[in-house]
Amino acid sequence: MSQQFDIIIIGSGAGGGTMTWALAASGARILLVERGDFVPQETENWDPEAVWKHLRYQTRERWLDERGREFSPYTHYNVGGNTKFWGSVLYRLRRDDFGAVEHVDGLSPAWPIDYDTLAPYYDRAEQLYQVRGELGSDPTEPPRGPYPFPAVPHSGGMVEIVARLQEMGLHPSPLPLGLLRPGDPGGCILCNTCNSFACRIHAKSEAEVCAVRPALASPYVTLWTNACALRLVATDSGSRITGVEIERNGVTSIVQASVVIVACGAVNSAALLLRSGGDRRPEGLANSSGLVGRRYMAHLATMMQGFHPLRKNSTVFQKTVAINDFYLHGPASPYPLGQVQSQGRTHGVMAQTVVPWIPLWAYNAWVDRGVDWLAMSEDLPDESNRVIVTRDGRIQLLYRPNNLRAHHQLVAETKRILRKLGFWIVVGHSHGARNTTHQCGTVVFGTDPRRSVLDPFCRAHDVENLFVVDAGFFPSSAAVNPGLTIAAQALRTADHIMTTDLKHL
Ligand SMILES: Cc1cc2nc3c(=O)[nH]c(=O)nc-3n(C[C@H](O)[C@H](O)[C@H](O)COP(=O)(O)OP(=O)(O)OC[C@H]3O[C@@H](n4cnc5c(N)ncnc54)[C@H](O)[C@@H]3O)c2cc1C
Ligand code: SF4
Repeated sequence: MSQQFDIIIIGSGAGGGTMTWALAASGARILLVERGDFVPQETENWDPEAVWKHLRYQTRERWLDERGREFSPYTHYNVGGNTKFWGSVLYRLRRDDFGAVEHVDGLSPAWPIDYDTLAPYYDRAEQLYQVRGELGSDPTEPPRGPYPFPAVPHSGGMVEIVARLQEMGLHPSPLPLGLLRPGDPGGCILCNTCNSFACRIHAKSEAEVCAVRPALASPYVTLWTNACALRLVATDSGSRITGVEIERNGVTSIVQASVVIVACGAVNSAALLLRSGGDRRPEGLANSSGLVGRRYMAHLATMMQGFHPLRKNSTVFQKTVAINDFYLHGPASPYPLGQVQSQGRTHGVMAQTVVPWIPLWAYNAWVDRGVDWLAMSEDLPDESNRVIVTRDGRIQLLYRPNNLRAHHQLVAETKRILRKLGFWIVVGHSHGARNTTHQCGTVVFGTDPRRSVLDPFCRAHDVENLFVVDAGFFPSSAAVNPGLTIAAQALRTADHIMTTDLKHL
């Protein structure tokens, strides 16, 4: 097989999968390199015990935390990356998120592009991932046309909750969701095992189904699974990549291409650049700013549950409601607090992972009477929050969550609302400093090469043929789910690559 391609894309998740789809028609010979395999369609996909107790699909890799203690990162190495397991809540950033925003604990910096620049690519990303939503009901929504598909209707129980929230003066809106053909034969069946599960019937809008598989129909796209990029090989000056060292089925080889696109996820992309410096550049590749790995962010997230002992929750598909009333400022604070979303149903086994000694029957009785929510706030970029690679090559995450006052206010406000809705008990749980699901910010994009790693098209300032198109480019984490923004920027970068690096084709 040829070891020479026009483009190598490393990682097949939201960034890499979307990029592969966007470049597939360019006529360039593309190699997509993915360290994992396809997730099989099997009964375990929807089995809470397999997913939550035996961690069947999560990576076995262990990372180190700030104090050098091992932990299992909640991340997945497979075709489609973490999108296979996402809740498919596909939001645009709010217009304000692109500007500098003062938060209670500091400044959320401006992006080098504004909302209007990304809006056409959001349109295309929403088409690709078949997003369903309702125009006009969310007070924070940026200017836009109608969604490609109508919103998923609320279940009976959630209709009641939405009406009560409106009586309280709030503005609940349908969550924008990527679900394929709900209600149609072969389409989404609106089940209770979506967020954190792979869809057994391939009805979730995720990168494997919507982007990678369609791209593979092109004769120009080659996918290598179980192929891990170990290192980028650069010229002596470090200004150009000449090859990628890849380990595949136990064999290591160097593959060449004129354009290299890294999309390993924010943590792994930073780690790959840091590992690629060699003796000549111990600080890593593309790192003249010293920012590779720094400014790690991951959102402040608390899973919350309102419990009523006498009310059984009959909702199956629960994840349809957003409350964005506190996104730009709190009820008694001029600062942003974040977003509240209803969540997929918690299963007893999931809840048991928090306090394992409580018997499963008790958890099942509890979750049968609970309604699940997620309170999510922005964390702020801080250069001491960072990914490093230890001497023996392991990933270490130095992360101290910040902007906690805003998050605590959001959690307190959510508790107050849930109590007003009649829930007797409200509980919350957070992964705190080990939260990796919304990882971002480690190779920030910007216009100043001294203050950013990538330019506004995600090309490395220091390396002319290197792009990074995963969540690493985020200068701020905003407080909505990151996936659609990663996909939109990948589409924008693909257009740029086609008119610059590939114009000779
Ligand atoms: C349970 C869960 C629920 C979520 N829900 C939502 C949601 O509802 N909405 C939303 O917007 N976001 C959600 N997210 C977050 C979302 O999935 C991520 O933000 C998004 O997938 C990140 O895209 P990415 O391209 O940066 O990385 P990923 O999607 O993680 O893709 C990175 C890929 O690179 C591969 N890779 C890594 N290193 C190498 C290497 N060295 N060589 C080869 N391949 C490599 C990985 O195997 C992986 O396939 C959720 C995440 C999780 C875990
Ligand atoms: S059937 Fe629908 S709700 Fe169930 S996992 Fe698939 S996409 Fe999600």
